[in-house]
Amino acid sequence: MFDNLSDRLGKIFEGLRGRGALNEKDVAAALREVRRALIEADVSLEVVRGFVEQVRERAVGHEVTRSVTPGQQVVKIVHDELVAVLGEEAVPISLNAAAPVGILMVGLQGSGKTTTTAKIAKRLKEKQNKKVLLASLDTRRPAAMEQLKVLGEQVGVSTLQIVTTETPVQIARRAQREGKLGGYDVVIFDTAGRTHIDEELMAETAEIKAEVNPHEVLLVADSLTGQDAVNLARSFDQRVDVTGIVLTRVDGDGRGGAALSMRAATGKPIKLIGVGEKMDALEDFHPGRVADRILG
Ligand code: GDP
Repeated sequence: MFDNLSDRLGKIFEGLRGRGALNEKDVAAALREVRRALIEADVSLEVVRGFVEQVRERAVGHEVTRSVTPGQQVVKIVHDELVAVLGEEAVPISLNAAAPVGILMVGLQGSGKTTTTAKIAKRLKEKQNKKVLLASLDTRRPAAMEQLKVLGEQVGVSTLQIVTTETPVQIARRAQREGKLGGYDVVIFDTAGRTHIDEELMAETAEIKAEVNPHEVLLVADSLTGQDAVNLARSFDQRVDVTGIVLTRVDGDGRGGAALSMRAATGKPIKLIGVGEKMDALEDFHPGRVADRILG
């Protein structure tokens, strides 16, 4: 396993303890290690570049206080900067709109979209006492519709009746009608995914979005997405104006660089993280914890 950043910076700054300000040369060597740590944590190269530049600006000339070593000082600067870029603590899903509030779930196939849809429904039901309706718009994969139904039953939340002859937009319309007539507080639309971003997926998702005018558009993305994270987040954001990101598989081995990449690429908040397959494995996002993880 790699040394964590603190250890590596400790070595660089050996012998330079508690005196004066950090100079260009010290900082340049430290930034090489910061850069390496970020790349190992799978942060997109483009984001790494911008981030390292920000850290350089903050670090050069920074007074080293007596109580910490220069290495610790730089780690703190990097950590604070990571937290700043990762954004606010636990931004909740907004339900501040006329009922039924629409939440559109978008993302690639296999990202955990359907699982996350059911997890969010469970959370809204149990923590906020909301009446939630789930609708799968994945007309190409009947199994996906069935999966949402099963998960809905598991968490005790209604799913829209499956009609296999309808288009996604027709299903969305029916879900909205049912949402109103049935007195639901929230309708969550689970859209179809593809294994990669393509024009057809984006066009379909944009069409659905125009139809349902959702209050939230949540991009579900695997936290293990590496260099594609920026492209993925930007593509969805440009076409359907994402309001928040849910990162899944944060329970896995990855070091969570995708969080930084996606947040930096879109400026959109990471609202929740998936930390397992179980229906209650959904947590608020805490930038400090992710920063720790990225730093290793
Ligand atoms: P979709 O194709 O995007 O709808 O993906 P699914 O919701 O079907 O999820 C694909 C697989 O990932 C399933 O086996 C889920 O149980 C699993 N999964 C989803 N979220 C998480 C998570 O946060 N952690 C882990 N470990 N597995 C997850």
